[in-house]
Amino acid sequence: MASREKYVFLFEEGRKENKALLGGKGANLAEMALIGLPIPPGFTISTKACNYYLSTHGHYPTALMREIEGALLSVERKTGKEFGGRENPLLISVRSGAPVSMPGMMDTILNLGLNEKTLQGLVEQSGNRRFALDSYRRLIQMFGNVVRGIPSEEFERVLSEVKRSKKVKSDLELDEEALEEVIERFKAIYRQRTKSSFPSNPKKQLFMAIGAVFDSWNNKRAITYRKANRIPDAMGTAVNIQTMVFGNLGMDSATGVGFTRNPATGEKKLYGEYLVNAQGEDVVSGSRTPKQLSEMAREFPSIYRQIKRISKKLEVHYADMQDFEFTIEKGKLWMLQTRTGKRTAEAAVRIAVDMQKEGIISKREAILRIEPAHLDRLLHKRIDLKNKPRVIARGLPASPGSAFGSLAFTADDAEKQARAGKGVLLVRPETTPEDIHGVIAAQGVLTTRGGITSHAAVVARGMGKPCVAGCEDIKIDLEKSQILVHGKRYSEGDFLTIDGLSGEVMEGKAELIDPEMSKSMRTLLRWADRFRALGVRANADNPLDAATARNFGAEGIGLCRTEHMFMQQERLPVVRRMIMASDSRERRLALKKLLPMQRSDFLGIFKAMNGLPVVIRLLDPPLHEFLPDHSELQKQMEELKRKHAAKKRIDFLERMAKRVSELSEKNPMLGFRGCRLGILFPEIYEMQVRAIFEAACRAVEQGYTVIPRVMIPLVGYESEIVKMRSLVVKTADNVMKKCSRRIPYKVGTMIELPRACLAAGRIAKHADFFSFGTNDLTQTTLGISRDDAEVLFLEHYVDNGVLPSNPFMVLDAEGVGKLVKMAIKAGRKQNKKLGLGICGEHGGEPRSIVFCHRAGLDYVSCSPFRVPIARLAAAQAALLLR
Ligand code: PEP
Ligand code: MG
Repeated sequence: MASREKYVFLFEEGRKENKALLGGKGANLAEMALIGLPIPPGFTISTKACNYYLSTHGHYPTALMREIEGALLSVERKTGKEFGGRENPLLISVRSGAPVSMPGMMDTILNLGLNEKTLQGLVEQSGNRRFALDSYRRLIQMFGNVVRGIPSEEFERVLSEVKRSKKVKSDLELDEEALEEVIERFKAIYRQRTKSSFPSNPKKQLFMAIGAVFDSWNNKRAITYRKANRIPDAMGTAVNIQTMVFGNLGMDSATGVGFTRNPATGEKKLYGEYLVNAQGEDVVSGSRTPKQLSEMAREFPSIYRQIKRISKKLEVHYADMQDFEFTIEKGKLWMLQTRTGKRTAEAAVRIAVDMQKEGIISKREAILRIEPAHLDRLLHKRIDLKNKPRVIARGLPASPGSAFGSLAFTADDAEKQARAGKGVLLVRPETTPEDIHGVIAAQGVLTTRGGITSHAAVVARGMGKPCVAGCEDIKIDLEKSQILVHGKRYSEGDFLTIDGLSGEVMEGKAELIDPEMSKSMRTLLRWADRFRALGVRANADNPLDAATARNFGAEGIGLCRTEHMFMQQERLPVVRRMIMASDSRERRLALKKLLPMQRSDFLGIFKAMNGLPVVIRLLDPPLHEFLPDHSELQKQMEELKRKHAAKKRIDFLERMAKRVSELSEKNPMLGFRGCRLGILFPEIYEMQVRAIFEAACRAVEQGYTVIPRVMIPLVGYESEIVKMRSLVVKTADNVMKKCSRRIPYKVGTMIELPRACLAAGRIAKHADFFSFGTNDLTQTTLGISRDDAEVLFLEHYVDNGVLPSNPFMVLDAEGVGKLVKMAIKAGRKQNKKLGLGICGEHGGEPRSIVFCHRAGLDYVSCSPFRVPIARLAAAQAALLLR
């Protein structure tokens, strides 16, 4: 007979490795019990029970009741308390705990087990009737809301009314009489809303609560969070049942959260917040502004020392930065949970590097610990201090980075405006898990209440978005969608800037600049370089970008798109003259003017990349891209005619309009572009090659080492590369002969058409290297035009699971990838020395980089700011696929 499924585990029965079964919280409680930390006794109901419950539409496994009763008995024995008992009642908390952290997405019920009878016991046990009544009203409120779906505002309204009638401001000031009134009115709400009385049987309370926690796995905000974080729906949640400990038993009690290191900067220093005489959720909800943990050294010195010891023990045991929640009940410390602490990207890098140096983890672990995409956040914007806008308010620095946006006062509005392409700043008194979609949509978050561990802060940090929290200088008027800051109003649509590292709020839009790499990041990337097999180059078109790329660790340029040089303001008229030329002679005259401009660009790039290869691609886009729009020309002509302008100017515009018509294509992406231009207008490519080699000669004369690579775009036929290679070789050799220099160079091709992949063997006969242009290769393989598709249907495809991800971001390994592999195989077979790289956007995307490593490419090339990401992702690919 198959062994019976076990659904309930006492804390001492689990381990940190059992996350899938016990959830993160349950597994870590078990681990804390194992290493001897002070944990209130309890047990975990497994995710399997949740999945059973959800798949049977609300039935519990038959054995569950018996197992829970057994576990309760064990807890009663350990605590000497009795669940539902009059003398010394056991009260418990019921908390969700999924296998992966979902901060605040699901529900918690505290003080379960209270009824009229046990209430008396609690009064005697605590010697504090006010506290017992307050605990009871909290239970009815939480239970009513979480289990029976009664809106919390209904309870809050009663609380406010009673406070008003008693003329007090805070909940803490409500006396026993007032709380008794609150309890009666809460029960009346419960009765009226559910047509039944508030359950007095503790076991009934418990079972209803367990069901509600299971159900909360499928509430809207949990589903949204899972979708945004790619968490499978089938995981389910565990439920943790734990003996209540109270942080609100007086001034010798408190509750708080801590981090073993600073989660914003990574500094090795205990960090966190606490509130005296408060209960569980008060700190995280942000409804009262807490004190810094360091103040505890004065207020509760021996407990502070104990927390420091525990913090160290947790770090060494888990070999990572941990966060934890704790409660002090009448001077005794209880640990309520721990998990790997969420941190900013900056902190993640610093902690990984520091921990390697402290001997806690290896270099390999340090490298694998950083999510490459998160480096992006470090490589993002901060405010240019030279033009810093006026600071109008200061809040708490809750998540670093700077952002500006037009003000949005609800999550829905933020989402709507972001959909319409606007950058928004979400401004709220505090955020709740219901606001998650607004946080996702916003550039940054600004709250007027709550601390650095409030919901807004934690969620924004997790997403790498700037956040300023608890900014009490700002008064929000949600009805009017306005804020008032020292007498000045800002409304919806007005712009503010926030700096999540300093906590400053500024007027208008700041100028944002890109950051430097930190010392820790440089160290980590240096380690990564030792492990990776893939080279990392940059896509850069000018000396400045080339220098930035090199500073980020690029080992050369993998793609220099020469058309970007053509687009510059002062060059465009010359380029247009070249395109308008009626014959080859006229075209050559214009090209002669372009030559020195291109030459100086190449010279600058060669110097910036001294000693490293520079792959320069000859002109690629359709020529009409350099000409004005037809209707724009028409308008200009009419204007000139109206003003009786000189005939010569009007004639010129007319000729241009004619040329625009001639060059117009139904589908320019598949039209007259790439090497097709070079074949029809060889003089364009000749000029470019001449500029490349004249620049190379000059650079060498000035003492630089130049490694030029010339790349032909959009080749599909062997005959195309044959023709283009011979043009390049002839021109290059001529220039070098004239300069009396011999600079080794190579000629290669983009592989960006399916035909090129199919004919790769033949093409490789004439190419020294292939560079996969996966932007075009994706478009042409999928038959999807990127710019049209992304707006029209790709988003829908991804949201609805038709495609796993946007194939223009993450390489389509099954389709495009197969062609790439085929081309590599055929190319290398033909030409053993064939160089292989990728220069489409995928070259900087971590999952695609894993593909490139597997496929055996020599290098990836990506935009300068993604170079560090690519270095790390390439090292991880090598470490994981070894
Ligand atoms: C490509 O097609 O992948 C590529 C790099 O070229 P472009 O994006 O310039 O067309
Ligand atoms: Mg291309």
